[in-house]
Amino acid sequence: MCAKVKPIHDTSHITYESLLEGNKQFIEDTLAEDPQYFEKLANGQKPPILWIGCADSRVPANQITNTSPGEIFVHRNIANMVIHSDMNMLSVLDYAVNVLKVKHVIVTGHYGCGGVIAAMSNTQFGLIDNWLRHIKDVYRLHAEELDGIKDDQKRTNRLVELNVMENVYNLCKTSIVQNAWKNGQELSVHGWVYSLSTGIITDMNVSTQNNENMDNVFKFK
Ligand SMILES: [Zn+2]
Repeated sequence: MCAKVKPIHDTSHITYESLLEGNKQFIEDTLAEDPQYFEKLANGQKPPILWIGCADSRVPANQITNTSPGEIFVHRNIANMVIHSDMNMLSVLDYAVNVLKVKHVIVTGHYGCGGVIAAMSNTQFGLIDNWLRHIKDVYRLHAEELDGIKDDQKRTNRLVELNVMENVYNLCKTSIVQNAWKNGQELSVHGWVYSLSTGIITDMNVSTQNNENMDNVFKFK
């Protein structure tokens, strides 16, 4: 039940009313395929995955992983950030890990991320600058490597990758993830980067199942 793929840049056919019409079509198509679909889905959810992704409209978790409703628990914000004091993210993470018992948490960034591009500039964008500053902090941590990349696009792409890796690390530092590991719960955290231009997801190979390699100051007993 894959949504029909339409040209992305022409959104003139999308209106408030067209969404409700689209909903009717979705129900009709879905029931034609499986008359019990909604009854089954309404019974509850047991997704094995928590996805922390960018709010960008071009990176829909289910569609790019060929999964369906009920299979991925999703949290999205600008530039797929894991900020320690973000109660929204922490609440989603806590519910996913401690109630849904997801087995994997995946931070998914994407090349060409507007949030990362904005964070690399010196322009003021307003309130969002306070959010983007966390990305500037990632830049500062890796300034030597990033300043050495002369091509703007390559430097942006590398910051997208480093931002994913740092946010995976941020996830590991949370008491929620560390307590799950301490209690012997099966839980892996991962970092991916999605390419808008090819559709390919690249694994950043930062998958972690314990806090062994974590800086000591972050470790909880
Ligand atoms: Zn983005």
